[in-house]
Amino acid sequence: MKILVINTGSSSLKYQLIDTEKEIVLAKGLCDRIGLGGSIVKQTDHTGKSYKKEIELHDHNEAIKEVINALTDEEFGVIKSMNEISSVGHRVVHGGEKFYKSVVIDEEVIKAIEECIVLAPLHNGPNITGIKACKAIMPDVPMVAVFDTAFHQTMPREAFIFALPYSFYEEGRIRRYGFHGTSHKYVSERAAALLNKPYESLKIVTCHLGNGSSICAVKNGISVDTSMGYTPLDGVPMGTRCGSIDPAIITYLIEHKNYDAAMLDDLLNKKSGVLGISGVSSDFRDLEEAALNGNERARLALDVFVYQTKKYIGSYAAAMGGIDALVFTAGIGENNSLIREKATSGLEFLGIEIDPEKNNVRGKEMDISKPHAKVRTLVIPTNEELAISRETVKLLGR
Ligand code: ADP
Repeated sequence: MKILVINTGSSSLKYQLIDTEKEIVLAKGLCDRIGLGGSIVKQTDHTGKSYKKEIELHDHNEAIKEVINALTDEEFGVIKSMNEISSVGHRVVHGGEKFYKSVVIDEEVIKAIEECIVLAPLHNGPNITGIKACKAIMPDVPMVAVFDTAFHQTMPREAFIFALPYSFYEEGRIRRYGFHGTSHKYVSERAAALLNKPYESLKIVTCHLGNGSSICAVKNGISVDTSMGYTPLDGVPMGTRCGSIDPAIITYLIEHKNYDAAMLDDLLNKKSGVLGISGVSSDFRDLEEAALNGNERARLALDVFVYQTKKYIGSYAAAMGGIDALVFTAGIGENNSLIREKATSGLEFLGIEIDPEKNNVRGKEMDISKPHAKVRTLVIPTNEELAISRETVKLLGR
């Protein structure tokens, strides 16, 4: 079966065509600068053959048409016709409290996802546009929505309620939702499989560390806490996002520095994080290089990131009453051995001890703990698209 996995952003659309029997990516690609002028479609197939087309894409409908054109292209395509696509899996960022698992998309589901736009305007709006564009072009192909928030809907109330007047939750649904759920679920399930232990018997802390970072406590197979909150701004500091800060800083900036909502949004989402601290870059490779060359603020940015990450690992061990496995994933978690080393140093008291030689690994599954360590520390590359294709097959049987 061939499943098209779609991840729509406001001006971009990423896709993968996955053969679910062999679990291989037949082709993956990106439509970029949709509606912005200078749009481009890029695709690489499983043999490494790549396709690039500069074409004006005015909206997501045109983008989906171009995806189909690329996938069925005589020279660069991987299928003969659109009919070979048996179903489509859509990544949807926010499922609110309504969606605690993936669902088959129908009119009612579309309406409910639209109701969640207010919770994540930057993401759910484009996600819905992507779903509608696919429906317009492939009206008979069944589709599934897989939510970033769904895995975390199992959090207990004490983990998701903010200490605001309760009416904010009752009336406005302001609470912790958490994100990256598809990734946390995928890597925690893989951890159990690699350790050959029942998923339902383990206490796992998963660290998804990328441009956006979040940490999750997975106890007995369910998410019991996670670092991102009402939006993906909360938690550890990120590439350009501030993570948790004292909320009174916001009122100070409004009252004394004339910040308005748009300026605050820009500051906290785009100018903060390790970029804000270092003034160098949001990319950890640049920061490491700058730190090695003696840049003190780059070093400080890395230290702040590592310190906050370590605090979450410890606090989630406390929340779960122990920890059996610690997982690192995403761009930084999979590739950056220095961050893994620093984030775990000093955690021997919890039973976390990593082997420096084994830690010298990039982008592949590996148990990097010392042989006698009580807690298994694992590097597990995430694969959200594969997880979405599996969910799609599970729900539709095709
Ligand atoms: P996103 O959240 O946008 O998906 P990624 O998961 O790709 O982000 O993470 C981006 C971060 O991962 C960057 O800071 C980068 O330094 C780091 N990273 C990505 N790939 C590598 C690599 N091959 N080697 C070292 N670091 C990497």
